[in-house]
Amino acid sequence: MSNEIFHPDFKQRPYWWEAVAPTEEAEVELPARTDVLIIGGGLTGLNCAIELARGGAHVTVLEANDFLWGASSRNGGGVSGGTNLGKGLSGSKGRSSDAEHQEKIRAMVEDSAASLAHVESIIAREGIQCHFELNGRFVGAFTQKHYDGLAGKVEFYNKVAHAGAEMVPRERQREEIASDYYYGGMRIERVAKLHPALYTKGLVDAARRHGATLAGRTPAGALTRISDGWRCDTPRGPIEADEVVIATNGYTGGLTPDLQRRVIPLASHIITTEELDPELAASLIPKNRVLSDTKRVLCYYRLSPDKRRVVFGGRARFTQVGPEVSAPALHGMMLERWPQLKGTRITHAWTGNTAFTFDFLPHLGKTEKGLHYAMGCNGSGVAMLSYLGAQLGKKLLGGQNRVTSFDGQPFPTRPLYYGKPWFLPPIGTWYRIRDWLDRRVG
Ligand SMILES: Cc1cc2nc3c(=O)[nH]c(=O)nc-3n(C[C@H](O)[C@H](O)[C@H](O)COP(=O)(O)OP(=O)(O)OC[C@H]3O[C@@H](n4cnc5c(N)ncnc54)[C@H](O)[C@@H]3O)c2cc1C
Repeated sequence: MSNEIFHPDFKQRPYWWEAVAPTEEAEVELPARTDVLIIGGGLTGLNCAIELARGGAHVTVLEANDFLWGASSRNGGGVSGGTNLGKGLSGSKGRSSDAEHQEKIRAMVEDSAASLAHVESIIAREGIQCHFELNGRFVGAFTQKHYDGLAGKVEFYNKVAHAGAEMVPRERQREEIASDYYYGGMRIERVAKLHPALYTKGLVDAARRHGATLAGRTPAGALTRISDGWRCDTPRGPIEADEVVIATNGYTGGLTPDLQRRVIPLASHIITTEELDPELAASLIPKNRVLSDTKRVLCYYRLSPDKRRVVFGGRARFTQVGPEVSAPALHGMMLERWPQLKGTRITHAWTGNTAFTFDFLPHLGKTEKGLHYAMGCNGSGVAMLSYLGAQLGKKLLGGQNRVTSFDGQPFPTRPLYYGKPWFLPPIGTWYRIRDWLDRRVG
């Protein structure tokens, strides 16, 4: 790469993979039959597998690539609970009365708060060393109107999610970020960050320790109903199961067309800077929190666990593009917030798929054909999908009990949508124009 923003040692792969990367493993023998077959070996599938295996079930996880390949080890590592359901809450009314709707919202926010507690507890219980730090988040308001909108949510977040939220006016913003880019913002204490590849690897190890069979490089093929469950074809032969869990999130494909129609694979992109002067790095985010903002084309960023680099993510594009497109765009966004980083070079750039849903809510349930699923992270699934994976495991162990407010909610799609989101580039352009206008018209 010739562009001066790229470090000579630039790599087109996640920075996180410097600590632990997806690697080919010795082939495990696939059992002929298993109690629960899980398709997809990220946070959802692994949390589900651990719960099931601890409960005594025989569980097998099929992962099409090497373990650690998916979004779970590529993400920004922000762990939110209770404050990250965003648009999903306002759109979730459906036909329910106002009182029912309020109750539904309260239950979902409580579940979301519980998801952070779940991550904390599984990391502690399984002894996962993944730089988990509960330092909070600062959400920068892009306009005064956005600031007022955030302010209106503080009481609710604190009452229902015990979020420790508080508004930080513009004149005190430098307590949170060495920048005047925002109109103040909201600080939330109940938000953590972690090293996503180390977290996922810790779950892989824990799942194996609890007795789950983990088969990498084993894409699930056709799923057929048989008299006593399911048969799944794989390149390594068929496997039968009582129950099947689909945990493929942003990589949900033609294997499950009814689910593919319900999730929108939306790309997210991240860059990492070269090592910064330690004093400069510490000054950028004085409380070492996770940062994000209220822009439509939002950015999320943080320091690396050694506090030497900025890890800067955002929707540089809504689709998969190479680093020659995403990295300069993200670098530009980083300099808008921190002009003092001019001249800083990028060592890593990468991308991955999130899964958006038409109601902006995560979903857990059972398809008409009888396949179980948990998916729909809407860009924020480290805590939520860890939790929903585990809750689905509990549900399978315990029969048909409803284990979360997200269970069995209608999972909408749109006419003529079959999983190929042709509409993302125009939406991306429209969002960029709306952001531009927001700053000009307030
Ligand atoms: C760049 C980026 C940044 C993000 N940042 C954050 C963040 O800071 N905080 C946050 O909360 N969330 C973030 N997210 C979202 C978060 O990473 C996801 O919500 C979460 O990792 C989803 O986990 P998962 O297990 O459901 O999916 P994945 O980890 O994507 O795993 C799905 C797996 O299914 C496999 N698969 C697909 N089809 C088959 C098949 N037929 N057979 C077998 N296997 C199959 C795929 O190979 C893949 O490994 C980010 C995502 C991205 C991409």
